[in-house]
Amino acid sequence: MTDTRAQAQPIIEYPVEFSPPNIGRWRDGTTGVPFVHSFAGARPGPHLLITALVHGNEPAGAVALDRLLSQGLNPSRGRLTLAFANVDAYARFDPSAPRASRWVEEDMNRIWSSDILDASPRSADVARAVALRPFVEQADYLLDLHTTQHPNEPLVLAGPHQRSRELARKVGVADLVVVDRGHAQGPRMRDYGGFGDPCSAKTALLIECGQHWAASSGEVAYAACIRMLQRLDMAPPAFEAPTVSLPDEPSRFIEITMPVTIKHEFVFALPLRGGEIIPRAGTVIGHDGGEPVVTPHDDCFVLMPSQRLWAGLTAVRLGRLIPAS
Ligand SMILES: [Zn+2]
Repeated sequence: MTDTRAQAQPIIEYPVEFSPPNIGRWRDGTTGVPFVHSFAGARPGPHLLITALVHGNEPAGAVALDRLLSQGLNPSRGRLTLAFANVDAYARFDPSAPRASRWVEEDMNRIWSSDILDASPRSADVARAVALRPFVEQADYLLDLHTTQHPNEPLVLAGPHQRSRELARKVGVADLVVVDRGHAQGPRMRDYGGFGDPCSAKTALLIECGQHWAASSGEVAYAACIRMLQRLDMAPPAFEAPTVSLPDEPSRFIEITMPVTIKHEFVFALPLRGGEIIPRAGTVIGHDGGEPVVTPHDDCFVLMPSQRLWAGLTAVRLGRLIPAS
């Protein structure tokens, strides 16, 4: 076992490279629910829901939806619904303290179970999720736009089901696809209801478009929306061309083998940013309450290490390459 005693590491701050869009003009929406817009195509087809700002400190998704809405696009078939999710958290976004506005009272992407949504709302974030719930339940496909704390290549979180992996291959929005089961802290929107049901055809992809405040992340988010519309045969005949190109299909699939949920107090032993491959099993990556946390196998892929190192949250996810099919 390789051991390095860890010291608490300072938070790494990244610059906000673009102006977060003012989404106030999209408040009224078309659905009766604020900040939710829905458009029907001329021909029948699937219902695609694209969500941004499930995390209020991730404005790249808002860049994409703002650009789509500004063009007044209608899908060529089916239904396209665009939803700005945690708008109250986003309203507090301050580029001088950009990490502060991730949620209002709790993480909106850890509350998607009927038990939580059926009860009287315990937080502003749950109340907003309840308002969004009918759209999540009606959609055939979900593209949920997110970004990461550290600068990472764009990646798709495909969840555990084979059909999501197949959709990720068909859509090709990122070179890296991650097969995962979410977080111990609570269920994600992308796993809610039919999206998490092994017997349903409803299929969800969550895309991490890059670092939260990198200018490129908004461009990737917009390109991912256009690509999803194209590959579902829903794209309108004309639209503003994306400024970044996406891979035609993914080349790597990684299965999460060990989500590291913090029990006490976690400190990284290595300066991990995500994307590293640690060659040896048993390598100490951090300590939780003083106990070493080690890689469970050789060639261990490091995914999305967190700087929010609180008990109950996920410190990092570890995984391994798997065959594409
Ligand atoms: Zn997020």
